[in-house]
Amino acid sequence: MILILLGPPGAGKGTQTAALVKNYQLTPISTGDIFRANLAANTPLGLEAKNYMSQGLLAPDDLVVRLVADRLSQPNPTKGYLLDGFPRTVFQAEALEKMLAEKNQKVGVCLLLDIPDNELMVRLTGRRVCRSCGSVWHLTFSPPPADLKCQCGGEIYQRDDDGEAAASNRLKVYQAQTQPVATWYQDRGLLRAVSASGTPEAVEKSISEALAGAF
Ligand code: AMP
Repeated sequence: MILILLGPPGAGKGTQTAALVKNYQLTPISTGDIFRANLAANTPLGLEAKNYMSQGLLAPDDLVVRLVADRLSQPNPTKGYLLDGFPRTVFQAEALEKMLAEKNQKVGVCLLLDIPDNELMVRLTGRRVCRSCGSVWHLTFSPPPADLKCQCGGEIYQRDDDGEAAASNRLKVYQAQTQPVATWYQDRGLLRAVSASGTPEAVEKSISEALAGAF
């Protein structure tokens, strides 16, 4: 099963990815996490993506498509893949369809996390994450420990692109470039939408209802 998790920045894709991977035994491919890991390790890929990421812009399609093709070509012992943060443009959706067709595979479901715009800026600018394990906090809704040390020992920080200017840019980019991807999957009968406004647990429940019969 190839499951796509689509939604604006701040909708909770990272949090729900962790639950979905566990509940459905999927291998996650999170393009944002891959870029951040490469940035932290100063690899050529990280350096190439750095400027786009810090401004809240999308990395070039061909770069992201190559990266995902490479991941999809590696052996996968689980029941499928969960794509988090990809595809983000119609070009990427079409490229994914082609690369899967070459392996006689196709997307099973595109799950859209739906949330009103006005909730997103608050979620994004208050978000704090662990540099090591990726755990997520929020200054108001789920405050991190005062010493900003995660249970895993990692440092809790604010992502560069969660600052006011970059976050607002990311929302504009989502509307212009990624919303059409939801329509693209809807036209193919593959879109299932859930409200992402509630608690992580409530959203997880809505997702399992939306995915009933898909696996
Ligand atoms: P995310 O953690 O998914 O919000 O991704 C962080 C940043 O990585 C984005 O703002 C983009 O700069 C870059 N990125 C991640 N996934 C993609 C993608 N599918 N296409 C283009 N850029 C991406």
